[in-house]
Amino acid sequence: MPSVLIIGAGFAGIGMAVELRRAGFSDVTVVEKAADLGGVWRDNTYPGAGCDVPSPYYSFSYAPSSSWPVRFSPRTDIKEYLTRVADRFGIRPRFGVEVTAASWDGARWQVETGTGEVLEADVLVPAVGQLSRPSMPDIVGQASFAGPSFHSARWDHSVDLAGKRVAVIGTGASAIQFVPRIQPAVAELTVFQRTAPYVVPKPDVAYAEWRKRFRLAQQAERAFFWALCEVGTLGIMGNTAVTKSVEWIALRHLRNQVPDPALRAKLTPDYRIGCKRVLFSDDYLPALMAPNVHVETAAITQIVPSGVRTAAGVVDADVIVYGTGFTATDFLAPIKIRGVDTDLGSAWADGARAYLGMAVPGFPNMFLMYGPNTNLGSGSILYMLERQARYIRQAVEHVATYGSGLDVRHDVADRFDSEMRRRLAGTAWTRCRSWYRVGTGPVTTNWPGTVSEYHRRTKRLAVSDFRMVVPA
Ligand code: NAP
Repeated sequence: MPSVLIIGAGFAGIGMAVELRRAGFSDVTVVEKAADLGGVWRDNTYPGAGCDVPSPYYSFSYAPSSSWPVRFSPRTDIKEYLTRVADRFGIRPRFGVEVTAASWDGARWQVETGTGEVLEADVLVPAVGQLSRPSMPDIVGQASFAGPSFHSARWDHSVDLAGKRVAVIGTGASAIQFVPRIQPAVAELTVFQRTAPYVVPKPDVAYAEWRKRFRLAQQAERAFFWALCEVGTLGIMGNTAVTKSVEWIALRHLRNQVPDPALRAKLTPDYRIGCKRVLFSDDYLPALMAPNVHVETAAITQIVPSGVRTAAGVVDADVIVYGTGFTATDFLAPIKIRGVDTDLGSAWADGARAYLGMAVPGFPNMFLMYGPNTNLGSGSILYMLERQARYIRQAVEHVATYGSGLDVRHDVADRFDSEMRRRLAGTAWTRCRSWYRVGTGPVTTNWPGTVSEYHRRTKRLAVSDFRMVVPA
C-alpha cells in the first residue's frame, strides 16, 4: 500500500486524509507546522472572523453538521467542525512539523522538515492553502511606527484597543468583519480605503433547534446556495444580467445604509462588479457612519512614528492593523520542491500552473490541494477540495495497483494551462488589482468556470493524461 504524506492540516489536508481513510488506505500521514489543525480558521482570530459562505455549503458533503449556530458561522464553530471531522475519521496530524523541502529521488518523495528529520512517501500532497501567508504592504517607514501594529491574520490579542486611536489599512473580506467589532471600543478609527469594495446584504439567520436536526432542511439550503453561487459565477464569466443585478443590490444596500452623500460617494466603487470578491455584511457600512470613524481615501505615502501619512496629512494612531490580505500567488512558498529534473520555482517562473490545479509535469506522484486555478469567486472551496481529494485518491489507487508513479504529460498540462489563460483573460478578474494575480499578470489562483464543470472534469482520473514512472 502506498504511503501518502499530506502537508497541512486545514480543510484541504484533513479532507484529503479522510478521503484516503474512507477508501481503506492506512499509511497516511498529515504533518502540520502549527500546534493545532484548522488552517485559516486557526490563524484568523480577529474579532468577528467567520465565513461568508453559508455553513451547510461550507461543510463536507459526507459530514453534514447539526451544530451550526447560524447560517454564516463564526470561525470557532468552523474550526470545531473540522476537529470533529478529523476525530470521527481518526485523523491525527503530527503537529509542529514544518516541511522545508521535498525532492523526488526517482521512486519516492524525500521530505525534509525544520528539525532535520527526513520523511519518505510514495505520494506527496501539499495542502498548504492559498491564504496562509499574510501580505504586509511595503510602505516607507513602517518600522518607525511607535505603537503596536499587526496583521489581521496574526491578531495581537495582548493589545487592548479600548480607547485607542486605531488605523486600519485595507477594506477586504477580513477588514469588513473586524471593523464593526472594534469600532464601538476604540476612541477613533481611521479606515484607509484604497479601493471601495462592493458590499451586499448578509442574509444571516440563527438556526432553530428543530431546523438543526432536520437534515432535509440543511440539504435544501446547501443545494440552494450551491445554485446561487453557480449563478454568481456566470456573472464573473461575463453574464451581464447577473452582474447588473448584483451591482444593483450592492448599490441599493449602500444607499439604504449610508444616507450621508459625501461618505456614500467615497464608498461607491468606481469599477464594474466581479473583479474583486463581493463582500457580505450588514454591519460594516453602518460602522463607518459612527462618529468615531473616518474613512480615508487619500493614498498612504509613509508610516511615521505617530501614525500614517497621506497627501492630506498625518493621521495620528496608537495602533495600526493591517487588513492587507495574503500572498496567494506564492503557492507552496517557502517550501523548496525538486522534481525529476527541475525545481518548482523554475517550473513556475511565469506563474503557478497545474493540471486541474493538482498535477505538475516533472513532479511525479505529487498532487496539490487548493493549487493554482482552483479558487472560487463565488462558491464553497470545500466543494472543490472534495473533488480534488476524490481525484487524488484515484491516483493513489492507481499507484497501489500498478506500483508505478504518475507524472502528468507536458502536452496535457500545457493544453490545460493555455485553456485557463484564455478563459481567464475574458473574466472580470483581469480588470483590476487583487490577490488573484501578481500585478497585472495572469490570474493564477482562480478557476474560470462553474464548480459543476470542475466536478465533471475531475470525476474520473484519466490515466492516459499521465506518463507512467517506473521506480528506478
Ligand atoms: P484582501 O481581500 O486581499 O484585501 C486586502 C485589502 O488591503 C484591500 O482592500 C487592499 O486594497 C488593501 N491594501 C493592500 N495593500 C495596501 C496598501 N499598500 N495600501 C492600502 N491598502 C492596501 O484581503 P482579506 O480581506 O484578508 O481577504 C483575503 C481573502 O481571504 C478574501 O478574498 C477571501 O477569499 C478570504 N476571506 C474570506 C472570508 C470569508 O468570510 N469567507 C473572510 C475573510 C477573508 P486594494 O483593493 O486597493 O488592493
